[in-house]
Amino acid sequence: EGFPPELAERVAKRQASLGASSVLFYEQPIDMASAKGAYMYDVSGRKYLDVYNNVPSVGHCHPRVVEAIARQAGELNIHTRYLNRVVEAYTEKLLSKFPEDLSNVVLTCTGSESNDLAMRIARIATGAEGFIVTEAAYHGNTALVTEISPSSLRKRKPAPFVCTIAAPAARDGMSVEANFAASIEQAIAELKSRGIGLAALIIDTIFSSDGIYADPAGFLKAATDVVHRAGGLVIADEVQPGFGRTGGGLWGFERHGVTPDIVTMGKPMGNGFPMGGVVTRPELLKRFCEETGYFNTFGGNPVAAAAGHAVLQVIEDEGLIERSGTVGSHFKRSLQALQAAHPEIGDVRGAGLFIGLDFIAPETAEPDAALASHAINQLKQNGILIGAAGKYGATLKIRPPLCFSSDDADFFTGTLDTILKARRGA
Ligand code: PMP
Repeated sequence: EGFPPELAERVAKRQASLGASSVLFYEQPIDMASAKGAYMYDVSGRKYLDVYNNVPSVGHCHPRVVEAIARQAGELNIHTRYLNRVVEAYTEKLLSKFPEDLSNVVLTCTGSESNDLAMRIARIATGAEGFIVTEAAYHGNTALVTEISPSSLRKRKPAPFVCTIAAPAARDGMSVEANFAASIEQAIAELKSRGIGLAALIIDTIFSSDGIYADPAGFLKAATDVVHRAGGLVIADEVQPGFGRTGGGLWGFERHGVTPDIVTMGKPMGNGFPMGGVVTRPELLKRFCEETGYFNTFGGNPVAAAAGHAVLQVIEDEGLIERSGTVGSHFKRSLQALQAAHPEIGDVRGAGLFIGLDFIAPETAEPDAALASHAINQLKQNGILIGAAGKYGATLKIRPPLCFSSDDADFFTGTLDTILKARRGA
């Protein structure tokens, strides 16, 4: 398959204009044209099964979301300092999805803004500066949030106010829960030795960038107790696990039976319309607003509210939380069966439609990023889009739109089976 010269020219032009910030997927990038449900189409009409885009979570270009955006854009699109029924209806519906204590919401435009605000709220609430995050976490792109996103730091050293901990795992005879809590105790002591108090533990409740760690459900309980005993807050970053992704509930923290002090949201919130949000207890927001102002020109505008409302409605009407649970369980089981047949698959884990699959070198059990990359490119050749995550880039991040079907899952599993067999035969 040759690379058409006009595509090569466009790639070169793009690189010339975007410079070092230009990132494209695949050795031969896709000229994408449209999408519907769990499928995407390139300009030649070639169809791809989307197994990793979690932003169009209720399905690409869902007609009800598209219609809500278009209708509201034709009626009123303005900042947030007027009364507006569309915005009121949305915030009421959104807050009805949270534990009673978490009864205030600030709407933003991105997950990064949400986490930035959450960090500032936590610092003012606690009077402390320090944050604990997992070692391969990503929480966003502002100056402050980049400091708690070790996966973004590259050559830069983490700031002294940040202490990183390993992703959750059972270790040294300790359960996942006990070990994770112990690592937080150590991190608190480490911050203290630097003269820094704990503002918050911030965690993506399914540990997306670290490589997807979901089980056992409930393991975050001890960790949140440790944080609260130390006077810190727990910030649940629901940008990835939120809005039904993990099955069984709307939020990842629900699987763990904990109530965070602050919850941040983004990505799937508007199914592609840029939206984010911070939900917290009124007294925490009040303290923050007494000390500093917060204004977000586009956050929670009527078009965003219409989009967000349609997303929540579609999740309910199409039973997407349940679907994520049932299709996800089927998918995970079939991938675990594949693991039994292929020693290169080291582990399969996850919750709902968020599954991590580790590639290893069978002889050494070391993470095999080269195999992950091979699989990703071969899957693309077979019409399937997927990406990698984790500390070593050796974990397939399986995270399709929630309208994904069991047949879609079987197509993915069957294709991966063929690819792994072919590689061994080669
Ligand atoms: N938190 C998590 C867990 C994320 O995955 C991301 C985006 N990848 C963000 C925050 C930042 O969201 P945004 O790109 O909308 O700023």
